[in-house]
Amino acid sequence: MKRLDLYGFKSFGRRVSVELEQGLNAIVGPNGCGKSNLLDAIRWALGEPSARSLRGGRTEDIIFGGTKDVRPLGMAEVVLTFDNTDGALGLPHHEVALTRRAYRSGQSFFAINGVPCRLRDIQDLLARANFGARSHVLVSQGTAETLAVSGGDERRAALDEVAGIARYRHVALLARLARDRALQEMDRAQAVLAEMG
Ligand code: ATP
Repeated sequence: MKRLDLYGFKSFGRRVSVELEQGLNAIVGPNGCGKSNLLDAIRWALGEPSARSLRGGRTEDIIFGGTKDVRPLGMAEVVLTFDNTDGALGLPHHEVALTRRAYRSGQSFFAINGVPCRLRDIQDLLARANFGARSHVLVSQGTAETLAVSGGDERRAALDEVAGIARYRHVALLARLARDRALQEMDRAQAVLAEMG
């Protein structure tokens, strides 16, 4: 990731642009200055489906709520810009920018390089590159602890993600849902046929 642009996300009431260097980047600052909010912003823009897992209850909680001196905002926006010179994201662009917005009205907006898309498109793009909100790329304090103390399914799921198996599970799940729907349709059709004698 090359750059992180924030506007109206949690405590970021003003436009903030963070340039990231290759290798290790450290975020330092006093308690409550927004370090975790910055990581939440990354996770959110990477397609985290729910605001609940971002230490807030509702979508509204991620929109800057104002301070003593600054008015609240009506929208939260996060843009993640990736270097794609190696083509890892599967798009023919040297840079790929992912935009996610949430409005107080409840509407949301997603874009890849400025072209509006669905949340699903961002998730799929990142899953194909083995990179997503739930992937090994971001390991929160809580998750690290879970991994350390858990066994079985949870640890397996995390390892699957690292090994790139998780996306196939996702595809398999969608296929199973489609099959179940088709079976239900078939049952219904058979019932109608039976009624018709
Ligand atoms: P610590 O080191 O204590 O974990 P931190 O630097 O990680 O702190 P964060 O948890 O990222 O800090 O930031 C917390 C601050 O963000 C709190 O002051 C909280 O009031 C503020 N904040 C969170 N959501 C919003 C919002 N929607 N609008 C305005 N401020 C917010």
